Amino acid sequence: MIDARALRKDFPVLDQRVNGRPLVYLDSAATAQKPRPVIDAVRRFFEEDNANVHRAIHALGERATAKYEEARRKVARFINAPSERTIIFTKNATESINLVAYSWARARLKPGDEILVSPIEHHSNLVPWQLAARATGATLRFFDVTEDGQLRLDNLDSLISERTRLVAVTHVSNVLGTIVPVASIVAAARRAGAVVLVDGAQSVPHMPVDVQALGCDFFAFSGHKMGAPTGIGVLYGREELLEAMDPFLGGGDMISSVRLSGSEWAELPYKFEAGTPPIAEAIGLGAAIDYLTAIGMDRVHAYERRLTAYARERLEQLPGITIYGPKERGGLLTFNVDEIHPHDLATVLDQHGIAIRAGHHCAQPVMEWLGVPATARASFWVYNTEDDVERLVEGLRAAKEFFGYVA
Ligand code: PMP
Repeated sequence: MIDARALRKDFPVLDQRVNGRPLVYLDSAATAQKPRPVIDAVRRFFEEDNANVHRAIHALGERATAKYEEARRKVARFINAPSERTIIFTKNATESINLVAYSWARARLKPGDEILVSPIEHHSNLVPWQLAARATGATLRFFDVTEDGQLRLDNLDSLISERTRLVAVTHVSNVLGTIVPVASIVAAARRAGAVVLVDGAQSVPHMPVDVQALGCDFFAFSGHKMGAPTGIGVLYGREELLEAMDPFLGGGDMISSVRLSGSEWAELPYKFEAGTPPIAEAIGLGAAIDYLTAIGMDRVHAYERRLTAYARERLEQLPGITIYGPKERGGLLTFNVDEIHPHDLATVLDQHGIAIRAGHHCAQPVMEWLGVPATARASFWVYNTEDDVERLVEGLRAAKEFFGYVA
């Protein structure tokens, strides 16, 4: 089991008081805090190595390039990608998904084709497909969802047909915490010849991920939810598919030759990395991966499951609380309390030094499905403890009292 109290000391930002109370940070699903080794790696890069990559023939340029490419190899190993050629650095999960929507989907889909999406997606794995469908005449279809927020898999063979060209699905829901059995969906998609994109923004920071075992064609995630800086994301893609795709953005670094009459593209992965990339951010991601690897992703997952189960048990003891989503879940709890609007709840909790998320979580269709305009969400990572959960419970009691409900 991981020692969250010890790990917490690695995160300088957590060592502060907010509104007079020690900070309890329960919003890691929005963005996670950064451990000291990541902050140091980024600082060291700027203090010692800063230069552009893949261009300069000088010591700093070579060191910057070596570190940037080393980060790519770390990402490949972390998600068990077969080669670093299949790892494309982007600015976030959203851009990774859009890259596929533009470079793969728009060039291939036509009227009559279907894109199968789940109704529990973050907007970033829904809106790009709505745009692609609008541009190509393809149709969006949706998985069915069970009452507790899991994807129905017993009717997959009727949902996925020879018309299905793409299945886009989240690995872990950022609202319901649902862990989607991606490998079974991939198997059904394979039978129909469809391509599968997985949104791993909420899985990679929290559990071991092996893209080859999942069998998916594309896998997208963001660095900032796993201890890395903002501005760095990853797209893994199956090499044959990436090879066959045209670039997403054009410019420097993504070409092998340019003439006024036309250009040729650089080889993978550079074909998809136009312009100066997020160099320090990628190096920070490499450091975050080292940090998580030293802890062990199996242990991170086991710890979060235990902490989330504990939090659920404690919150369920509060009268008037509704918790959404299945019992087996990722490291977050989404809930509402009586008639207190989640924004009001978050405001009162903030007065007690507790940071949660309130709103629609960039998943308005999920809110519609739940029949509520918004929810509160507490999300956990390696630095959260049972004490944090107790502070949350205490804060919720205080909020109920403040709004005139007796706990
Ligand atoms: N997918 C899921 C499931 C998410 O939770 C998020 C971030 N909330 C994203 C995609 C988008 O991530 P980003 O904003 O870093 O692109």
